[in-house]
Amino acid sequence: MSTTIAFIGLGQMGLPMACNLQKTGCTVHAFDLSSQACTKARELGLGVAASAREAAEGAAVVVSMLPASRHVESLYLGDDGLLAVLPAGTLVIDSSTIAPATVQAVARAAAARGVLMLDAPVSGGTVGAAAGTLTFIVGGPASTLEAARPVLQGMGKNIFHMGDSGAGQVAKLCNNMALGVIMAVTAEALALGTAHGLDAKVLSQMMAVSTGRSWATEVCNPWPGVLDNAPASRGYGGGFGNDLMLKDLGLAVEAALGAGAAVPLGELARNLYALNSRAGRGQLDFSSIQQLLGAK
Ligand code: NAD
Repeated sequence: MSTTIAFIGLGQMGLPMACNLQKTGCTVHAFDLSSQACTKARELGLGVAASAREAAEGAAVVVSMLPASRHVESLYLGDDGLLAVLPAGTLVIDSSTIAPATVQAVARAAAARGVLMLDAPVSGGTVGAAAGTLTFIVGGPASTLEAARPVLQGMGKNIFHMGDSGAGQVAKLCNNMALGVIMAVTAEALALGTAHGLDAKVLSQMMAVSTGRSWATEVCNPWPGVLDNAPASRGYGGGFGNDLMLKDLGLAVEAALGAGAAVPLGELARNLYALNSRAGRGQLDFSSIQQLLGAK
């Protein structure tokens, strides 16, 4: 690909994604508000701009990977926002996990200027970002997705078109709400079993081939020592942070309120991860919920 791409947000996910795009032959103009993140990007061979606007100059595509709704609003909207300067026909792909209503507002402002926009949040975590195997969960017009497909394929393996603008975010929130609830109940089951003297490893092995099986039992088991490669076996370091799960569950509850849907388990899980955060485990992997629900 010979496209010039502005990549905004060079954190845990954005930096490896931008590096993968550069490997496809694109010219990447990267930017992050954090000078530390910019230094890391330069060390990895990316061209770093002095501002988001400078990064976007001459770019046919803008990809953003920012923490939350307010960061995306401040990047694109308002007099200083990118939409005020992007030429018509520019393609904007926002891969941050944010509120569906926010991305819809940004997409409306983009459309008013002739800028094409997709919400394309991802699943696959930092491992998938580095390996270029992310799943993109996309909302927006089908024709815009076709234009974006080569760019997305440079960073991921699976692409799902969920519907119009915001639908990618809704689907991502559905997935993460299920994940958060399943992790919490798996931790609860392991705490119950071990309280009765069961071996957590044997219990997990049994569940992994029975009807209680899930990603939480098989890949990211929350009980320390059950799986050598899981965050639980390295003090819950790395992985997907408790506070990111807390953010996503908050967005899911908010989205449910907006649509009149009931998500009682999602709401309960949001409170559990909030308690886990208050206990000082906000930066640890979300499977550290095991510590809240009973661990050895
Ligand atoms: P991160 O905090 O590591 O990185 C975000 C970066 O954005 C930071 O470096 C920050 O300085 C930068 N930033 C914030 N506002 C900016 C602005 N206006 N202009 C330029 N840079 C700005 O976050 P992350 O882990 O890379 O996650 C990014 C998004 O992806 C989040 O929405 C998260 O929920 C989602 N996500 C994360 C994971 C994961 O495993 N970490 C997995 C799937 C999805």
